[in-house]
Amino acid sequence: MTSPRLKLGRYSVGTGDRFAHQAKAQLQACLRALEEGVEVVPVWNKSNREHTIIGSEPFSTRQAADAAVKTLDWKLPYYCDADHITIQTVDRFFAPCDFFTIDVADFIGQPAEAGQIESFVARHPELLGTIELAGADESFEFTREILTATAQKFLAAVKKAGEVYRKVVSAKGEGNFIAEVSMDETDRAQSPVELLIILAAIADEGIPVQTIAPKFSGRFNKGVDYVGNVAQFEREMALDVAAIAYAVKQHGLPADLKLSVHSGSDKFSIYSAIHATMQRFGCGVHLKTAGTTWLEELIGLAEAGGEGLALAKEIYAEALAHREELCAPYATVIDIDPAKLPSAEQVRGWSSQQYTSALRHVEGDPAYNDSVRQLLHVGFKIAAKMGSRYISLLEANEPVIAKNVTENLFDRHIAPVFLGRNT
Ligand SMILES: [Zn+2]
Repeated sequence: MTSPRLKLGRYSVGTGDRFAHQAKAQLQACLRALEEGVEVVPVWNKSNREHTIIGSEPFSTRQAADAAVKTLDWKLPYYCDADHITIQTVDRFFAPCDFFTIDVADFIGQPAEAGQIESFVARHPELLGTIELAGADESFEFTREILTATAQKFLAAVKKAGEVYRKVVSAKGEGNFIAEVSMDETDRAQSPVELLIILAAIADEGIPVQTIAPKFSGRFNKGVDYVGNVAQFEREMALDVAAIAYAVKQHGLPADLKLSVHSGSDKFSIYSAIHATMQRFGCGVHLKTAGTTWLEELIGLAEAGGEGLALAKEIYAEALAHREELCAPYATVIDIDPAKLPSAEQVRGWSSQQYTSALRHVEGDPAYNDSVRQLLHVGFKIAAKMGSRYISLLEANEPVIAKNVTENLFDRHIAPVFLGRNT
């Protein structure tokens, strides 16, 4: 772990761009932060699932990012993230990506090979007894039973992460990419105690992990606000940050290792807790948002009126007609109330303003409809099927769409999390 590595920076934001047309508008949001004196490194993330649904190749994300960086003369680092890749899906991301989110959630709870648990426990006597987490004012009692049970739950997953990491190294070379390990797409949150043990196992695997994405308690549904106890989230995040600091010191993991919060976008109610925790510990975070930029495209089209609005309505009607099929892959991360979905007929009669205010995520606006928002969030397949019809309207209405994309990313995400601004 001594070779020079690419650095992510203290603050970074993961942003999705489903149709590869908004990289410039997204980068504008990072430029705006820079103008206010805060460096926020952009990371364009797109999962294999997303590429498969849209029918796009990871190279398109790279090209869009490079073009935006060139046009806007962005001098800081930027990355393309092979988001939630596995050993099966990683190959086509090697060349275009320099950030790999190694997803091993499916291996949590799988049995490790015989002897691996015993040797892990034997290798970590420092994890027995009382561990004091500096800065978090809490200490934890570790017993051999806890260590063994936790290793039984997570060791196979971490071993798998090591396998994927080494596969990426063999393609790209050590230090030439950012490695993230993600365990967020699972049913149960990981406790700070579990995180400590997971990090020890990650160090054993020799993964110079720079970001780690645990699952936090509460619900992180796609495109809508957090559902859970914010005070509990804040306590949990603080303990996770303290656990990371401990693991960096104890196991020699990279000093810049930080938490990655896979927010699924729009977790506005925890943003001030994230900011406060970073202030308290002097640490950074990678805030990975989901594909809500696509919703800003719809908002921009609706705002443009005419053909744009008509297309936005047509997409809603189609999404409604194919609701079950669209929602199936996202069943664990969306909560749509069908009773709150207006009929296609009703939406056909909407003005620009009615459409945008139903969709735009402004908590407290009585017109905002989180079921409409979640349905359209997963409805990008409809636009993908429209192909050039959709893309040419994106291009024709670029200014109004770009304005919405930049404002959304800056005002609703970057400013509250990284600048501590309340919206
Ligand atoms: Zn995730």
